[in-house]
Amino acid sequence: MSFSLHEREDTIVALATPQGVGAIAVIRLSGKDAIRLVNQVFKGKNLETAASHTIHFGTIRDGEKIIDEVLVSIFVAPKSFTKENVVEISTHGSSYIVNQVIKLLIRQGARPAKPGEFTQRAFLHGQFDLAQAEAVADLIHSDSESSHQAAISQMRGGFSNEIQHLRSELIHFASMIELELDFTEEDVEFASRQDLRVLVEKLLREIELLIASFDLGNVIKNGVPTVIAGKPNAGKSTLLNALLNEEKAIVSDIAGTTRDFIEDEINLGGVIFRFIDTAGLRETTDTIEAIGVSRTQEKMKTASLILYLFDLSDTDMVEINRDINKLENLGVPFLKVANKIDKANPLFINKLREKHPDTIFISAGQKENLDLLKNRILELVNLDKFRTGNTIVTNIRHYDSLVKTRQSLLDVLAGLDHEVTNDFLAMDIRRSLHYLGEITGEITTDDLLANIFSKFCIGK
Ligand code: GDP
Repeated sequence: MSFSLHEREDTIVALATPQGVGAIAVIRLSGKDAIRLVNQVFKGKNLETAASHTIHFGTIRDGEKIIDEVLVSIFVAPKSFTKENVVEISTHGSSYIVNQVIKLLIRQGARPAKPGEFTQRAFLHGQFDLAQAEAVADLIHSDSESSHQAAISQMRGGFSNEIQHLRSELIHFASMIELELDFTEEDVEFASRQDLRVLVEKLLREIELLIASFDLGNVIKNGVPTVIAGKPNAGKSTLLNALLNEEKAIVSDIAGTTRDFIEDEINLGGVIFRFIDTAGLRETTDTIEAIGVSRTQEKMKTASLILYLFDLSDTDMVEINRDINKLENLGVPFLKVANKIDKANPLFINKLREKHPDTIFISAGQKENLDLLKNRILELVNLDKFRTGNTIVTNIRHYDSLVKTRQSLLDVLAGLDHEVTNDFLAMDIRRSLHYLGEITGEITTDDLLANIFSKFCIGK
């Protein structure tokens, strides 16, 4: 999908509130004819003469037929979200009414909006840059404190400012070196190579930090990938259920009978934990046993956290030691979680406490010590990292551009080392600028835009 210039001038219409029945629904239009089109079907005040940011009561009519009583909000260009004329019609929240009104507006000359088209127009008219536009999408989808924080700060421009600052420092050097190209005969040096090196090294350090923040950003956006590992019947699905606090999975005495409907995300203290391969809990294979199998090993390695769960009443010390040993070799942080304290032998508990003092003793079935477990999980992911004021990269597209910028900057450094000619140096600097510009949208292609905005929902 990409938008032709002609399409960009159309007046677009879409439902801005969710599909389905609600108290009210909001239909939004944007484009130079938005106010005129609505006025043609609106009975009440003449909207074409209405002031910006005013609300009007009236009826929407198809000929003589009244479709609904509505409130119409008018935003006159450029003082609107898209910087075009925008009208928002609040109707009663029936999908029949919504459909009738939208059809009527289409008959008047509006066109159904494509996904993200309102936000795209806002971007094209300079309302915000690309990273901020993407943050709008993240904000709409944020479902935890930390993802919300990261999206808000990006939408308000924190990240964009940082990128623009890096860019402007580099632009200065690029232009100086390009100026030198005009004076090749004269052997002048407008841009000190030493200063350039200092700047590039500084930029590299900052970019390195941004790149490193992506791991964290990814976790914030997509959740901490977590695995519950343990033998069949250790109580894995019972624990997952207890953490979810809902009986969504069917727990059974027969090993491996857990069926569908396992919700696999939980929010602990504002951080999302995503339980990977919860379907695998159903498999009769012993995840711990299977660590030797490379496929399982690879899967476990993608986790940021493993909960090693064992049944106190059904596991001996030799087995526990062996499993722990395997997990230590895997190199993924893990917690030792001993389940079924309600039916365990106190002597065995004591022995285990001595041997592995960091064991967490719980009863998933009786929901005992689950708070303790939650706290230990949060400690392990080190929540403080999420609370720093530093910029966090949450977007894979930004991450890719940063990685490419880093490579180009390394090329600049190598060029300085080898004293390459100015035109080569200028080329590498231009390339770095190009990749940085991709993030905020100073450098864009229609394909890139279409790709980004098509991920939005219609009406955004
Ligand atoms: P999974 O195979 O590891 O997913 O184990 P399940 O969650 O299906 O649990 C196996 C059995 O252990 C079920 O009958 C659960 O009710 C039982 N169970 C789980 N946790 C506890 C617990 O803390 N105490 C007791 N007594 N039984 C439990």
